[in-house]
Amino acid sequence: YFVKQEITTNNLIIDDQEIFRHAIKVLRHNTGDVIYLVDPSEKLFEATIAKVDTEEKQFQVDLKLLDWTSTELPIDVTIACSLSKKDKIEWITQKSTELGAKTIIFFSSKYSIMNWKKNVIEKKVSRLQEIAKNAAQQSKRRVIPEVIYLNSLKDLVDYKKETNLVAYEESAKQGEMSLLAQTLTQNPKSILCAFGPEGGFAPDEIDYLNQNDFLSVGLGPRIMRAETAPMYFLSVLSYKYEL
Ligand code: SAM
Repeated sequence: YFVKQEITTNNLIIDDQEIFRHAIKVLRHNTGDVIYLVDPSEKLFEATIAKVDTEEKQFQVDLKLLDWTSTELPIDVTIACSLSKKDKIEWITQKSTELGAKTIIFFSSKYSIMNWKKNVIEKKVSRLQEIAKNAAQQSKRRVIPEVIYLNSLKDLVDYKKETNLVAYEESAKQGEMSLLAQTLTQNPKSILCAFGPEGGFAPDEIDYLNQNDFLSVGLGPRIMRAETAPMYFLSVLSYKYEL
């Protein structure tokens, strides 16, 4: 579980109702059981439940700092996907979290099959943020990825990282597949890759991104679905930096 306060003591009373409900009510943990806590400084603790107070809806844990190596990808990765249907963006959020993305952006582009009206953005982003949190917990991440919605490609360009890429299937056809591998040999500290919708990016969108330092890269000779391409990309990064 992710706790909001930095842990500096050997024991802690947990009164966060979300954690209480999940650990005590849903998983039925009791005295003596062990759970794991991550604090905002990404420290991981083994927490043995010492006392459960169901009336006050809180429980006490004894803590042991664990010296685990981080589960975070050693490169700061931002996945930026064109907006698609609810189930797809939820899937992308969950799987990108499992695969180590630090930031997950959804943006509107020419051939996006939908657009979000201003009044629904906050609610939709907070639902996705909740999915990211649950997935981060599940995969024992130290960091919950941030989910962001951007209204246009222009806003995406303002979000640039050290290295910026756009996955473009035409680049794969032109035999530029190795551009991704070449880019990774420079060992950037942070990287952003933009992915188009099912209908792909319009050529003028690719031009615009290229003019703004986004390098077009192919991801192999097969055309993947919009939600598969970011998973391929994250797997490549994991292979390069973690295996
Ligand atoms: N416009 C394409 C078409 O209909 O042939 C398909 C677009 S594809 C379904 C959706 C997005 O996934 C693309 O915009 C691109 O960002 C990414 N993508 C899929 N396969 C790719 C590949 N082999 N190389 C690079 N990007 C790819």
